[in-house]
Amino acid sequence: MRWQGQRESENIEDRRGFGPASIGGIGGLGIGGIVLVLAVSYFTGINPLALIDLMSGIQSTTETPIEGPTGPVKDELGRFASVVLADTEDTWQQLLPKTGRQYENPRLVLFTGAVQSACGTASSAVGPFYCPQDRKLYLDLSFFNEMSQRLGASGDFAQAYVIAHEVGHHVQNLLGIAERVSRLQRQSGKVEGNALSVRMELQADCLAGVWGYHANRDRRLIEPGDFEEGLAAASAIGDDRLQNMSSGYVQPESWTHGSSQQRKAWLRKGLETGNPDVCDTFSTREL
Ligand SMILES: [Zn+2]
Repeated sequence: MRWQGQRESENIEDRRGFGPASIGGIGGLGIGGIVLVLAVSYFTGINPLALIDLMSGIQSTTETPIEGPTGPVKDELGRFASVVLADTEDTWQQLLPKTGRQYENPRLVLFTGAVQSACGTASSAVGPFYCPQDRKLYLDLSFFNEMSQRLGASGDFAQAYVIAHEVGHHVQNLLGIAERVSRLQRQSGKVEGNALSVRMELQADCLAGVWGYHANRDRRLIEPGDFEEGLAAASAIGDDRLQNMSSGYVQPESWTHGSSQQRKAWLRKGLETGNPDVCDTFSTREL
């Protein structure tokens, strides 16, 4: 990606290096949280790494989250993340008003180890996530190493896709989709709940693609090979692949994010059209 020299977002909250004591005085995630993450992955048969933005890996807490300093960051990877965030701001500021709604920029919280959000306390093991309650994206940048080393998903656009996917969840939140889906999930059983989650996640993938299209067309951030990196990453984090890697079998009813094929296909739809209307995963019979 040609990201150097592009606008960097002001909406970065830097909580990196905050010690466990500073995330609410409960000693970080603690052994309970780690056990919880492992238990969740045991029951779902999914590698903890696969629990990307899955709320079940987040421990609820009554502590008030401590905010970090907001503004520009100096390190290379942090700056990259803030350029991607800034570009999603430009894209959605332009696109969302067409649906009759104003876009409100979310904040991206950078953290190391564990973090406290309005949705609860989470360790890095749960992967990047979006919390609808405080409208913040949470990202431990070391996740990018995990992605390339353990999952074979590397490249800057693969990383940008992860951020844009979480921004996609923010768009879903602003549009009231997140609220409607969680209401439906509360009324349904586990299998239907998972199926709704898959539609939600594939839509976030598609919305990430919509951003990629505009990053390319409007600001020329994209270089040859970038989209392929993103599609390879989407494929690498498909539920079938992760499940197979961790347990050696595949159980579609337990999926929450969609198969490699589905994730790739929905990201591609967004990348090719740049039109959020094509991202209606909820009225599509066949995903
Ligand atoms: Zn997601």
